[in-house]
Amino acid sequence: MRRQWVPLRDWALWKRPRNWIAYTLAAEALTLALTVAAIIYFPVDGKHLAMFAVLAGLGILQAEISRKIERQRRSLNVTPHISMISVWLMASVLLLPPQLIALLSFTLYLHSGIRSWSGIQHVAMHRTLTNATTMALSCFAGVLLTDLMFGMDPLAGPDAATAVCVAGAAYFITNTAITAGGLYLAAPEKASVERLIGSWDDNLLDMATLCLGGLATLAMVHLPLLSVAIIVPIFVLQRSVLAKQLEELASKDQKTGLLNAVAWHDNGNHELSRASRGGREFSVLMIDLDFFKKINDTYGHLAGDDMLIALADLLKRETRTHDLVGRFGGEEFVVLLAGAPEVQALVAAERIRRMITELVVQSQTNDGKPVVITDRSASIGVATYPAAGSTLDEVLAAADAAVYVAKREGRNRVVGSIYPAAVPATPG
Ligand code: GH3
Ligand code: MG
Ligand code: MG
Repeated sequence: MRRQWVPLRDWALWKRPRNWIAYTLAAEALTLALTVAAIIYFPVDGKHLAMFAVLAGLGILQAEISRKIERQRRSLNVTPHISMISVWLMASVLLLPPQLIALLSFTLYLHSGIRSWSGIQHVAMHRTLTNATTMALSCFAGVLLTDLMFGMDPLAGPDAATAVCVAGAAYFITNTAITAGGLYLAAPEKASVERLIGSWDDNLLDMATLCLGGLATLAMVHLPLLSVAIIVPIFVLQRSVLAKQLEELASKDQKTGLLNAVAWHDNGNHELSRASRGGREFSVLMIDLDFFKKINDTYGHLAGDDMLIALADLLKRETRTHDLVGRFGGEEFVVLLAGAPEVQALVAAERIRRMITELVVQSQTNDGKPVVITDRSASIGVATYPAAGSTLDEVLAAADAAVYVAKREGRNRVVGSIYPAAVPATPG
């Protein structure tokens, strides 16, 4: 593949929000200043250079071995990407002087940037630099704290294991804080705790890489050859993360993040088995937006999509975590309310119907003009297991038939399959 170098003035960096650019450049300037200070104050000896060569060699070897997995993970991921480079950088905190840590960070990120990530659209070159800077600063925090607490050579004393834990904690906290700051400034309007600090799984993975980094540190001091063995668990860790990401991708509707039809049916059938064994009921809500096509025709597909996303968010908000919310394609949404008899489901459906009429969706036309979508409605059909059928498909068919009745009777209403007249037409 021919690689194209993008000139500095054309870097995607300059198209980012101003505050983010200032933050990123400040972090880069700080890293540079600290590295220059380190060159002046910290002597480098042959042992350091040998250690640097080993860590850089292992990091490059590991990246080459898992290059294909890393490329796939990169192209799938939407949340902060956790890189296995952390393992070697974490190890460098207690083994190298700061200037060599910075050099290691830039060497490994540059190598990955060129070998594993290039050509993947959303991984611009400046991201490689930003990541290398963030990691170098996280390591510097580890160096500072361990120097203050344990002196200049913590691995020589009896507190070696504690020093490794302190270095890992300082690295983790600093990295999380710098990354969260950057993500916030990149898109303040989208900020949420999960977006800024990552999911529980992301953080667990991050900690796993730091644990391996800690083990690599101790191995390098006592049994240097053993540190090569760390490459195997890193490879397996990466592969299992990729498998989990693919599994998640296969079960989700890409537009709304809800369950797709296959995953909804799988989970729904589990619920049916549970209900059948326990002699319990559950209800299904089939929700179809009224005159949805008009949104597309009036404002364009982007606005239609935003309406679908807003409805998906509303359904997630208004249901419990163990209810199943799915999108069966188009503008057809299905909710399974675990343990709910039809009357209870009708009340929930009526609340959802009313909230849909109150939705205010900010969007834009296909050529970027802002629009506000209001005064929409939906027709909702409700059916309950086992009264409406003994299989999931029968219950779904009953809910679908109820939607049809709701449409025929004037839309914007809830219709139950047992109590079709229980919720009268309630306009607005
Ligand atoms: P009704 O009240 O009878 O349900 O009318 P409707 O316009 O909502 O229903 P109809 O089934 O005629 O139209 C559904 C439209 O949904 C047609 C299709 O273009 C649109 N659609 C399906 N999937 C998507 C999508 O992912 N995004 C957007 N923007 N539109 C979609
Ligand atoms: Mg419709
Ligand atoms: Mg439809």
